[in-house]
Amino acid sequence: MHVKFWGVRGSIPAPGPETSRYGGNTSCVEVSIEDEVLVFDSGTGIRKLGLDLIKRGKKPIAVSIFISHTHWDHIQGFPFFTPVFMPGNAFQLYGGKTFSASLEECLDGQMQHPNFPVMLRQLPSTLRFHNLQEGESLTIDLNPEISNDPIHVTFERLFHPNGVFSYRVDYKGKSIVYATDNEPGGPEFDRRLVKIAQGADVLIFDAQYTPEEYPSKKGWGHSTWLDGVKVAKRAGVKQLVLFHHDPERSDDELDSIEAQARAQFAGTVAAYEGMELNL
Ligand SMILES: [Zn+2]
Ligand SMILES: [Zn+2]
Repeated sequence: MHVKFWGVRGSIPAPGPETSRYGGNTSCVEVSIEDEVLVFDSGTGIRKLGLDLIKRGKKPIAVSIFISHTHWDHIQGFPFFTPVFMPGNAFQLYGGKTFSASLEECLDGQMQHPNFPVMLRQLPSTLRFHNLQEGESLTIDLNPEISNDPIHVTFERLFHPNGVFSYRVDYKGKSIVYATDNEPGGPEFDRRLVKIAQGADVLIFDAQYTPEEYPSKKGWGHSTWLDGVKVAKRAGVKQLVLFHHDPERSDDELDSIEAQARAQFAGTVAAYEGMELNL
């Protein structure tokens, strides 16, 4: 399992000299398993992933994209994901039905005239949408010449305005959890979070706020780095990745947050654009 971070910022892209080390692109994480590519969210980071997929030269490009939820910072890169403009490529898109619309309706909505010149239905590649239901799980079979072990993907709905799904990928005893945009939301949601993160090798977690900032941001749907540390300990995860950095957070502030979190949970790292993990 190979993980690469293409966008680690929350809420809105935050380019500039203060954020150049951690990066300004919004949420996008690639998980590669053998020759399968799974993508988590299509924030602006997905633009560069798309160019990289083309450069890798595999044709056609076939990728599974899992969307946590349809807030802008998780879908806004999709119209700039070049592989969807290439005939022959095929994409499986997974998401839950949010408050009032499906994933397809939300991606379609952001590409309507006059907001974008090309509409979703005009894209020449194949897009297949899957509306995930709570309690479901899915398996992705690999090319049998490569492996007979399937990839397992499970998900849990967590607490966030308009709803959010967290995802867990399991393959050959290794596991990674993508749990961005969630706020401690009472015993039921907290139980689900610990359940999906249980024993994971890597937990990618929403660490938008500091504990000092949180009281004035209560109800906005995000956690603190300290919440991440607590979940990592309770769920027995090996590595905690602080993710979805606040757009106001400078590189120096992120260095300090990483150090504070490490003092309480040694296996902590603050995600930066281009960071890679091998499991
Ligand atoms: Zn977000
Ligand atoms: Zn959100």
